Amino acid sequence: MKADPEAQRRLLELQAIDTSLAQLGHRRRNLPELAELDRLARELSALEDERIRVQVSVDDIDRDIARLERDIEQVRVRADKDRTRLDAGTGPAKELEALQHELATLGRRQSELEDAELELMEQREQVQATLDAVAQRLEKARTERSDAEQRRDAALGELDHDRDERDGARAPLVDTIPADLLALYEKIRESTGVGAALLRSGRCEGCRLELSGSERSRVKAAAADEVVRCDECRRILVRTAESGL
Ligand SMILES: [Zn+2]
Repeated sequence: MKADPEAQRRLLELQAIDTSLAQLGHRRRNLPELAELDRLARELSALEDERIRVQVSVDDIDRDIARLERDIEQVRVRADKDRTRLDAGTGPAKELEALQHELATLGRRQSELEDAELELMEQREQVQATLDAVAQRLEKARTERSDAEQRRDAALGELDHDRDERDGARAPLVDTIPADLLALYEKIRESTGVGAALLRSGRCEGCRLELSGSERSRVKAAAADEVVRCDECRRILVRTAESGL
């Protein structure tokens, strides 16, 4: 392939832009904020599960407390009724004695139920404290997520800006390179990321290998408009004053 030496040298400029674009792409995919957001998403999901689990415990205890309160109320109503009948003092003595006996039983029952309720209320306080702690951790993680999202968006904005800048420089440069040379460059770049390399002081900057004596003679003998490629890495070797030929 033949190409104007100037056009060949412009491949190096194009390569610099493409390398920079590839680096920007790599940075975009590997933003630390993305890993942080992944971690926070897992943390938030675990905390949300925990919150639901603890809330279920609170609800269970509340249900038990409500049931105990209904039982206590029933006992109270029954005792009030018994007491009214007892105070009226009517009826056979045996019946009054039975009422007294029942009142004593109801009193014991009420105090048992009240003890159980108290215990449940203490349990509820503990579980509520756990729930509050989980809610706080959730809030903290949500704040962290929103911070990380802002930082990610700012970083992406900067990367977009840098990419647009390079795209802007790339387009007019591409227009100055012959189509067949550009196609060869793109084909090589597709597989290795680098399509054209400077030959500097007898060394290919693509694969970093020194040209052998015979290869050097071949490159040196090639006409300036001949497109030469590295024997080792097959990249387009661009010759400049620095090539050391
Ligand atoms: Zn090479």
